[in-house]
Amino acid sequence: MSAIILNGIKIAADIRSEVAAEVKTLASSGLRPGLAVILAGNNSASEIYVRGKAKSCEELGIRSEKLTPPESVSTRELLDLVHELNRRDDIDGILVQLPLPPQVDSKRVLMAVDPAKDVDGFHPVNVGFLSTQRPGLVPCTPAGIIEILKRSNILIAGQEAVVVGRSDIVGKPVAMLLINGNATVTVCHSKTRDLPGVCRRADILVAAIGRAGMITRDFVKPGATVIDVGMNTITDRAEFERFFAGNAKREETFRAKGSTLIGDVHPNAAEVAGAITPVPGGVGPLTIAMLMVNTVRAMKLRRGSEVAAPC
Ligand code: NAP
Repeated sequence: MSAIILNGIKIAADIRSEVAAEVKTLASSGLRPGLAVILAGNNSASEIYVRGKAKSCEELGIRSEKLTPPESVSTRELLDLVHELNRRDDIDGILVQLPLPPQVDSKRVLMAVDPAKDVDGFHPVNVGFLSTQRPGLVPCTPAGIIEILKRSNILIAGQEAVVVGRSDIVGKPVAMLLINGNATVTVCHSKTRDLPGVCRRADILVAAIGRAGMITRDFVKPGATVIDVGMNTITDRAEFERFFAGNAKREETFRAKGSTLIGDVHPNAAEVAGAITPVPGGVGPLTIAMLMVNTVRAMKLRRGSEVAAPC
């Protein structure tokens, strides 16, 4: 039997409509959330991501502002820019698009963001809030994964969850969210012994590795929910054949674009899983949707007294 496909596009659209409705209500009290995005230098992938974020803000009624210091920007100049945004009351969220130019001390710049405006949820203060279950800002992709599970009525409490990957951006925060949701959580990484065996214990398996199709059907307990966070681009024909031979739709994209996206989960895992997120169209769309949620949340947490119904 083939797994139920967890449609991230639909879930993200639902979340975006909820945010749009909330922004409309805030507007009736004369309030409008504002997001500032710092895009330093000329990284073409970053430019595309930032454009997507700005477009999403516009569609939902959130004010967005793009700041574009040049490739030659210094750490000091970026720190000054962040401090100015920290002071501005019309800015609720600050997002520093990574990577920053090589001469910049990225950690110092990220640390300078006011934790109350840290819509990426990467600041150690927000990491601490998450681990101690206090109100704060949660990283977008992990928060999106929990939304997928909850909105698909997949039970978290009491379940065995295995997270493959321990990055600060995905693996660790998603593990923390699952612990907070009362799952029993195991976190795996490149030194884990018998990875397939550990993964097969999972009722919920989250793959956040960055290796095309690594999690095959042999890693999946029959009926498990599989969340594929990976985003890997395939350009090699032989590799394409290994994963997608006989898949006419994929063949069409691959021919047209010369590449296709694949997650960390092999397509054959869908033959064993009970439910699975596709790539593309699974976790990816949730990341920007949750950035919008975080921007409104940051406003409500920071300007609670002005907002009719603080979160
Ligand atoms: P990362 O920082 O490179 O972390 C990868 C993790 O995978 C590390 O903990 C690493 O272990 C582990 N790993 C690598 N090879 C392994 C192996 N053979 N066996 C077991 N574990 C292994 O990556 P990330 O930032 O978390 O991103 C992971 C993936 O998610 C990437 O494909 C990325 O593009 C994607 N992503 C997607 C979204 C989205 O919006 N959909 C957002 C963020 C990331 P060690 O710690 O031992 O090195």
